[in-house]
Amino acid sequence: MSLFDAPLFKDAYEQLEDAADVMGLDRNILERLKYPKRALQVAVPIRLDDGSVRTFQGYRVQHNMTLGPGKGGIRFHPGVDLSETAALAMLMTFKCALVGLPLGGAKGGIEVDPTTLSRQELQSLTRRYCTEISMIIGPNTDIPAPDIGTDGQTMAWFMDTYSQLKGYTIPGVVTGKPIAIGGSLGRAESTGKGVAFCVNFAYQKLDKVIDKNTTVAIHGFGKVGVPAAEDLAAQGARIVAISDVSGAVYNENGLDIEKCSQWTQSGKLLKDLDGVKLISNEELLELDVDVLIPAAIDGVVTKENAPRIKAKIIAEGANGPLTKEAIQIISARGGFIIPDILCNAGGVIVSYFEWVQGLQNFFWDLDQINSKLHDILKDSFDNVFETATKYNTDMKKAAFIVALARIERAMRLRGLFPA
Ligand code: NAD
Repeated sequence: MSLFDAPLFKDAYEQLEDAADVMGLDRNILERLKYPKRALQVAVPIRLDDGSVRTFQGYRVQHNMTLGPGKGGIRFHPGVDLSETAALAMLMTFKCALVGLPLGGAKGGIEVDPTTLSRQELQSLTRRYCTEISMIIGPNTDIPAPDIGTDGQTMAWFMDTYSQLKGYTIPGVVTGKPIAIGGSLGRAESTGKGVAFCVNFAYQKLDKVIDKNTTVAIHGFGKVGVPAAEDLAAQGARIVAISDVSGAVYNENGLDIEKCSQWTQSGKLLKDLDGVKLISNEELLELDVDVLIPAAIDGVVTKENAPRIKAKIIAEGANGPLTKEAIQIISARGGFIIPDILCNAGGVIVSYFEWVQGLQNFFWDLDQINSKLHDILKDSFDNVFETATKYNTDMKKAAFIVALARIERAMRLRGLFPA
């Protein structure tokens, strides 16, 4: 089966192709970006708690490493396969290039439902997977991070396994580690903080300010949604609706975000929260608000519901929450879309800071991290906005154009081996 038979990979490539057409990218450069540079498929056998052995399928894909070592998360999810991992690796190439990081794009994962495994089984799975892909990763080659189904503990086991294999501690092999073993301050909230920064930049472009009249709806109140809500609420915005997989809660006067985040962080579902009006996830997306932040899963705004989306600014906190057709519909009616590879790049930017701090064994304070994060995102946002104006195109294509221009320049300088 070709990678192009898989919808997610085809979609990622088509986004690349569309942007390439608008900017007139050299077809030879496009051709070189079509397939992943390297893809490794591994068997990950582990002994389960009941004594039996079970083998899982694992992957690590490196899409393009012209700008530097590969960077991208490790996903533990039943839907993981080679084509999904390859598509996500391709998007990482463009995300890193867009925000000017000296990193390429990679992604990895295991086809597994981590909620069905014990802590010991998860540790065995992580350690065996790390060993199986150890020949293609490393602080100078490819640096994994957490993604869906993995967290700081997974990264700690991963870093320990890689270090055991090499014989000394190598913190720079992964990012998203707990702070006690070389993680970075600010990493946990960096993606949501970046989303809030981007909403501010969009407001500035529209000559407006965020105040108590600014209404915000957030689809997905998790690692991205919570800090985005906290930052926007701290600036005075009214977060009128938030949701999780169980449904959405609404209060036109604004929700108490601290109370809501304590509720969800204690493992409870939003539908069980008292004193709020319950609505569906679909209704949340269609609320008449100033800002909509889809921060849960991909493909939630499609050509079916796009005509009913009323938000003026849509900040793509999740990866690919708006389909290609939805972006066309919303852009045509003047909606301001902040594209995912820009909007949620805060996480990879602070991951890059963590990697740099690990390599130099010198750690920065939180103010330094947040101010550097702000400056990189501000430059990137301005660059995308100016590119959209220059090419008379939408922000999504403009983001790909900025990224492609950087990769093209580097590819031309490095040349094709053998010449
Ligand atoms: P998370 O698991 O912490 O939170 C996801 C939220 O979405 C939860 O509230 C969950 O209940 C809700 N949700 C899950 N499935 C849903 C469904 N079918 N309908 C409605 N709500 C649903 O995940 P996260 O880390 O916040 O990631 C969210 C998105 O952001 C993903 O697309 C992820 O790839 C992307 N992203 C995350 C980061 C990061 O640093 N965490 C970085 C870049 C991109």
